[in-house]
Amino acid sequence: MPIQICCACGTSYPDASEPPPRCPICEDERQFVPPGGQLWTTPEKLASGHVNAWRQLERGLFEIHTHPGFGIGQRALLLQTSQGNILWDCIALLDDATEALLRGLGGLHAIAISHPHYYTRMQYWARSFDCPVHLHAADADWIMRPDPAIRHWHGETVELAHGVPLLRLGGHFPGGTVLHWGDGAEGRGAILSGDILQVAADLSRVSFLWSYPNMMPLAAPAVRRIADTLAPWKFERIYGAFPGRQVKAGGAHAVQRSAARYIELLEGNQA
Ligand SMILES: [Zn+2]
Ligand SMILES: [Zn+2]
Repeated sequence: MPIQICCACGTSYPDASEPPPRCPICEDERQFVPPGGQLWTTPEKLASGHVNAWRQLERGLFEIHTHPGFGIGQRALLLQTSQGNILWDCIALLDDATEALLRGLGGLHAIAISHPHYYTRMQYWARSFDCPVHLHAADADWIMRPDPAIRHWHGETVELAHGVPLLRLGGHFPGGTVLHWGDGAEGRGAILSGDILQVAADLSRVSFLWSYPNMMPLAAPAVRRIADTLAPWKFERIYGAFPGRQVKAGGAHAVQRSAARYIELLEGNQA
């Protein structure tokens, strides 16, 4: 029986010959059900019409992105550390070429995901590389396909590898997580942010929303908390959820400046 995958968000559901009646991830106001209704695919159909493209973003960091675009369209990032490779965020397609390339690079030590919109087919990636998936426990209700590889972490931070902590920022989801890579940007530090910090079009600021597709803002205390949580951390670059979306320099300052401006606008000051 094939695994059913939601075409709008890429989430995989338990094996069944028929698609599930609904996708709770898409029915939540932070995602959306397409106007024509929910469509479904299977791993085989997905692989027959799509490929993954790779790009090196800097030494030790690769982007993996599906073409043509599928689901929400996010990229996964492959981070090379002294303790093994970490997959940051996930995508639905793990094709033979991607698997072979990853094995050539040493496989996966761990998977970590910013929030439920990118859980996609994490279970299959984890099984293929015999590695755990680290998810914040606050979002456990959004796992649509339980798996023994999933490890819930609690609290505000957890170390994935030496110099690679996960930080809970909350916001878009209560367990919204980013990854701090101390060795990134030639030792000046980088944040892999998913859409917990959304790298904006001018590539010099970030934004924060409760719902991206439905354009619903985050409340001021949540934005303030994100900025305060990141204030002690050093980072030059921010790698966002989508190809091309990275703040190349001044990342820590960009977060503080963007958060201050966001709160100013929420409070009615558009001048
Ligand atoms: Zn969905
Ligand atoms: Zn999201």
